[in-house]
Amino acid sequence: MGRGIIKRLLDGLKDTAAGLPDKRGASNGRKYRIADFVLGAFAVFYFQHPSMLNFQESMEQREKRNNLRSLFGVEKIPGADQIRNVLDGIEPGGLYGAFDQALEVVREEGALESYRVLNGTIPVVLDGTWYFSSEEIHCDHCLTMEKKNREGETRTLYYHDMVAATIVKPGKPEVVLPLIPEFIRNEDGKEKQDCERNAAKRWIKKQRERYAALKLTIMGDDLYCCHQICTELLEAGMSFLLTCKEESHPWIAEQVRFGEGETLEVREWNGRVHLRHRYSWVNGIENRAEGEKLLVNYVRYELYNERKGEVTYRNSWITNHGVNSGTVRNLVDCGRARWKIENEHNNVLKHHGYNLEHNFGHGKEYANEIFCLLNLVAFLFHGIQVLVEDEYRKAYTSFGRKDDFFWALRYETARYFHENWHDLFLTVSGIVPDG
Ligand SMILES: [Zn+2]
Repeated sequence: MGRGIIKRLLDGLKDTAAGLPDKRGASNGRKYRIADFVLGAFAVFYFQHPSMLNFQESMEQREKRNNLRSLFGVEKIPGADQIRNVLDGIEPGGLYGAFDQALEVVREEGALESYRVLNGTIPVVLDGTWYFSSEEIHCDHCLTMEKKNREGETRTLYYHDMVAATIVKPGKPEVVLPLIPEFIRNEDGKEKQDCERNAAKRWIKKQRERYAALKLTIMGDDLYCCHQICTELLEAGMSFLLTCKEESHPWIAEQVRFGEGETLEVREWNGRVHLRHRYSWVNGIENRAEGEKLLVNYVRYELYNERKGEVTYRNSWITNHGVNSGTVRNLVDCGRARWKIENEHNNVLKHHGYNLEHNFGHGKEYANEIFCLLNLVAFLFHGIQVLVEDEYRKAYTSFGRKDDFFWALRYETARYFHENWHDLFLTVSGIVPDG
C-alpha cells in the first residue's frame, strides 16, 4: 500500500491553490504566495486546531525553520487576519481541483472500486447540513430564520448551510469520502431564500460532467423524493435511491397497496435474537407530480424482532434500479447506509475534531465557505490516508481514540521540527526514526 500518499494529496492542493486568481492589490506587497494562505489555513484543519492560530511562528523565530514549511510547503507564514482577508476573495469553485486530485489518488491506488455496490455504481448521499449559525455575526449571503428566545422576543438567526455529497458504503465501518458540496446561499437581488432542493439541483447540473465516469447512485431523504429531482438525475446520467415516506407520497403507497407486489422474507439469528427481514417491491410505479409521469421502482423494508414481537425498523425508497429477489437486499442495505452521512460525516465534522461549526472567520463573501471546504478536504485526506497509506494507518491505529492521535500530531508539530511526514508519522507511532 502506498507511501507518500499525503505528499501526493498535498501536491494536488498546492497545484489547485497555485492556479487561483490573485485578486490582492499591489499595496499588499505580494509578500506571500496565494498558496501560502490556502496551505496555512489547511494545516489548521489537518491538525484539527480549534482556531486559526499562528501556530508555527514561534518555532520559526526560535529555530529558523518550521513544520508548515517542511510538511505543507508554506514558504512564508501569513497571519490569521491576512489569511481570512485573502480567502474571503476566493470563490469556492477555485478549490474544486483539490477534491478531484484527491479522488484521483484513491482511484490510482485501486480503492475506489470497492465502493461500487449497486449495479456497478457508487452510492453518494446528498444531505443538507448547517455549518454556521449566529445571532450577531452575518454577511449578505447568510440564510435567515426568525426564532423566539426564552423571553418570547423574536430574533433573527443567521446561518450557513450546504448540500454535502458523500460517498458511502453499506456494511462494516467503512471510510466515507466527501465530494464537492453545493453551498446554500442567498444572492444579491433575490427575494426568495435559497433552499436545499435548489442547491441539490445546482449540484446535479454543475457536477454531472465531473462525476460521469464514477457512475453514481444518488441517495437522499424524503425531501429529494420528487419528480423533478428524479428526472434531473436521470438526465444527468445518475441513478437514484431515495427515501419515500408513505405519508408524504400517498399516491405511491396507494398504487403499491393495490399492486402486484413481490415479497421476500429472510430469517436471521444474530446471536441473540431471531430477526425477520421483510422485503416487498413493485417495479414500474408512477411518481406523479404536476401531471407528469415517471416510472420508478418501489422498495419497502421491515425488520421484525421475534422476541419483542414487533417491527423495530421500517423504511421505503424509490429507485430506477430494477428490483428483484437478487437485488432487493443490496438496495435496502444501501438505503439503510444513508444514516452514515449523519453519523460518520456530519457528526464527526461537527463534534469529533473538525470543529466544522466553529467560526474561523465569516468574511463578507466567501471566507466561511472556503474554511468549510478546507475542513472537508482535511476530512477527505484523512479518510484516504486510512484507506491507502500504511504509515498513517499505523500511527492512527496506535491510538485507541482518534482525538488522542490528533492531539499527538498537534503536540509533535507544536514542539518539534519534523523534516518530513515519514518522520512525523513514525514518531507519532512511537517508533524513533533512524538518525
Ligand atoms: Zn453569512
